[in-house]
Amino acid sequence: MGDFEIREEDLAGRIGKLETRHGTLETPTFFPVIHPVRLDIGIDILKKIGFNNFITNAFLIYKNRKNFKKIHEEFKFDGTIMTDSGAYQILQYGNVDIDNLTIVEFEKQIKPDIAVILDLPTGNTEDRAEAEKSVEETIKRVGEVYNEVDDDIIWTYPIQGGRYLDLIRKSTIDFNKFKDKFKFAALGSPTVLLQEYDYRSVVSMLVEVRTNLSRGVPLHLFGGGVPHMIPIMVALGVDSFDSASYILYARDNRYITRDRVLKLEEMDYFPCSCDVCAKYTPKELLEMDYDERIKLLAIHNLYAIKLEVNSTKQAIKEGRLFEYLQEKSRSHPAVYSAFKEALKYNELLEKFDNGIKPTGKGIFLFDYDSVFRPEIRRFGKILNRYEPKSKNAVLICYEGLSRPFLEDELVRKYVSISLRENKDVFIVVPFFGLIPIYWSDSYPLAQFELSEPVDDLVRKHMIDVIKDFITKKNYSKVEVVNCKDLHIESIGTLSSS
Ligand SMILES: [Zn+2]
Repeated sequence: MGDFEIREEDLAGRIGKLETRHGTLETPTFFPVIHPVRLDIGIDILKKIGFNNFITNAFLIYKNRKNFKKIHEEFKFDGTIMTDSGAYQILQYGNVDIDNLTIVEFEKQIKPDIAVILDLPTGNTEDRAEAEKSVEETIKRVGEVYNEVDDDIIWTYPIQGGRYLDLIRKSTIDFNKFKDKFKFAALGSPTVLLQEYDYRSVVSMLVEVRTNLSRGVPLHLFGGGVPHMIPIMVALGVDSFDSASYILYARDNRYITRDRVLKLEEMDYFPCSCDVCAKYTPKELLEMDYDERIKLLAIHNLYAIKLEVNSTKQAIKEGRLFEYLQEKSRSHPAVYSAFKEALKYNELLEKFDNGIKPTGKGIFLFDYDSVFRPEIRRFGKILNRYEPKSKNAVLICYEGLSRPFLEDELVRKYVSISLRENKDVFIVVPFFGLIPIYWSDSYPLAQFELSEPVDDLVRKHMIDVIKDFITKKNYSKVEVVNCKDLHIESIGTLSSS
């Protein structure tokens, strides 16, 4: 159990398959948090919405029913069940009256597919000593059950450290000591940061984990029930989430959309066509009695989360996750901040991005953010390896040229002249800088769409790339032709002759 196979990749995100005792779980996936006693939403409804997995709390079950049978029998559910262990209660109330060995023994008895040991969450503490203690204690507890855990359950290694990135690193690296028994890793405690819209911190925490955790290990994020952050978290390599937000928000009359959370009282229209939204208006929901309204709102909220997970997966499948992030980042300034933070780690995104676009469709280039997409970064590195054939370069601006560039009449004219006169021919294209003509029919150099006119930052980037290239490759004469709006004639003066 616990074999994880990566099927599709885009940026550092992936679609994977995790083998569990109750079937193969396709990731990225969302585990709705189910209260084991209250059961606000029936398991049958969960299935109907499309969730074949949920997470519940082994600690709460233990407190209420020590004679609990096998968990799948009790819940009458044949999908994947994950159990948390009481760490959330520690975060909420400071302590729980159970120890790690007891809860692990209990989890072995009720037999979920995936289980978590009783870790000590770092939470949102700003006390470094406390954060260090939570990391050390959690690692100690993993060690103390190491010989107790078996292969029937996928055991989760909790990564702690909170906002202290060096502690997260240590916590992640220590996973290697236990990796033959623990097949699943989970990052703890970002819930408060997410609630406070401190998405940038969450991004840097995830980058720290994904940089130090083997690519083949699935990564869960505790909490993380805000749909608008799901694409970014997935793009950084998160494979699953859990959250009770759908029900907590519902109790507060809050309606989740893919981009934000709205108060039911402020709504006139439902921007959704799920079972609930197709049938009722916001006013009708408000007039219902409390229990009925909460249930319906929770169902809608789950649909909204499901929709976002599926949209993200489809974007991975099409190889357009970067463009999807650009689109989603405009939903809220805090999401845009998170996106910008993620772009700082473009090396990581490029490293994991497999460079294959399954649909073969062109890439869409919008604004300066697009300069950071893996295809552009990778091209920049390849361009550095270009070997000049002569001392003279001809730069033809892309404006008005047909593609593939090599078939354009003007380009062909210059290519034949330069063969005679021994010159290297390049096409000047915003975002890329310049493209050696004989490379121009390879992906994505012939397949891109860009927004025009290009903004000043993109133009500056392009000019920097060109100047740098000409200097490094020692061209003594540079001729610029066909330039209208790009205004790069001045580059011609770079030539040293
Ligand atoms: Zn709906």
